[in-house]
Amino acid sequence: MRILIIEDEEKLAQSLKKGLEKEGYAVDYVLDGEAGQRRIEVSHKDYDVFIIDLMLPKKDGFEICRNVRAQDIITPILVLTARDATEDKVLALDSGADDYLVKPFSLQELTARIRALMRRPEQTLPTELMVKDLRLNTSTRKVYRQEREIPLTLKEFGLLEYLMRHPNQVMTREQILDHLWDFAFDSFSNVVDVHMKNLRKKIDGDNNDKLLETIRGVGYRIKR
Ligand code: CA
Repeated sequence: MRILIIEDEEKLAQSLKKGLEKEGYAVDYVLDGEAGQRRIEVSHKDYDVFIIDLMLPKKDGFEICRNVRAQDIITPILVLTARDATEDKVLALDSGADDYLVKPFSLQELTARIRALMRRPEQTLPTELMVKDLRLNTSTRKVYRQEREIPLTLKEFGLLEYLMRHPNQVMTREQILDHLWDFAFDSFSNVVDVHMKNLRKKIDGDNNDKLLETIRGVGYRIKR
């Protein structure tokens, strides 16, 4: 799952990125409102959640929220506010934000809010995904095949979740990269193939019924 942060306090943006990456998210940040809105317009499909500070140079968070919703972009938005003022929260929610957090907040609280946003019904994201005898739980982050638990790294988990959300669909390396890695990775690296290879070993191993499939020259899919 990939997150965009629009936050002008660079230190905070960096520490959020670091903290969220430890939780398995891919994170990009931009430091002003105009750049943030541009990024959303061009690449909103790559992101699962936007985290937007309300007080930003060039364009404030309220305006970004209104613009995003006016373009029918439904990606969940969590706003950050420095002031614990009711009118700010009301205005943010009325502008199209889904939730807010008052600074300072803990990383734990932030990740709980993010998980809650991803569970929203309009996103239709179930917590338990199943493909044949493979079961993935997004809230406990556990994966089972034939009821046997399979320990995965955070990236492997993200990769498997992404494929399981699109069963039978071939996902290209590019799509996988865009979704699970931030801008620092270029599309010529073989990082996807390496993780995929490890994932297959763990999921399929010597099971006769292979679920993960390589489509030569295109990408990967999970067969239902
Ligand atoms: Ca600010």
